[in-house]
Amino acid sequence: MKHLIDHARSFPQRTAQWPEELSRLADGQSPHALFITCSDSRVIPSLITGARPGELFELRTAGNIVPRHNGPHPAGEAATIEYAVEVLGVADIIVCGHSHCGAVGAMVRGEDLTAVPAVRDWLGHATPLPDDTDSTGPDIAEAVQSHVLHQLDRLRTYPCVARRLANGRLSLHGWFYEVHTGSVLAHRPHANTFTAL
Ligand code: ZN
Repeated sequence: MKHLIDHARSFPQRTAQWPEELSRLADGQSPHALFITCSDSRVIPSLITGARPGELFELRTAGNIVPRHNGPHPAGEAATIEYAVEVLGVADIIVCGHSHCGAVGAMVRGEDLTAVPAVRDWLGHATPLPDDTDSTGPDIAEAVQSHVLHQLDRLRTYPCVARRLANGRLSLHGWFYEVHTGSVLAHRPHANTFTAL
């Protein structure tokens, strides 16, 4: 923890190299995209995309699950999506799954999650993956990529998303990030496959 505190303590000195960029942030934000990804510490959206402060609105959930719209409980995830789309007017939403994802791995392997009931209940929000999903290999790439596509389908059911998709003001993107190589693959709808960006 100490090195994290030390780094945060000296952050103002480092930001002093770009004072005008920082001072503009006081006027508000106008991010280019909403980036939805897993809470996993190995996935750093700004590091992957090179986004500067103010450029990326983020939603991070265990397993980058997008819950059903109008589910039974108030959802911070839905509020974040709605705010990004309706208020900030982001032009793009990226759902980025990642290799070696513990959440998706738990789902495809049917792990016993009784010791972590909140995790079990949260993963219960996810659309079940097809029984024939390939969960072999430590990176569980196929399962995560299928899972990403399910989250995109969920997003399309959000009224604010559906409206903007219909009028061409919003695009959805499915990405898959390899934590062990740094490679980013993107879903190509026409071929229905993930290939390098
Ligand atoms: Zn994950």
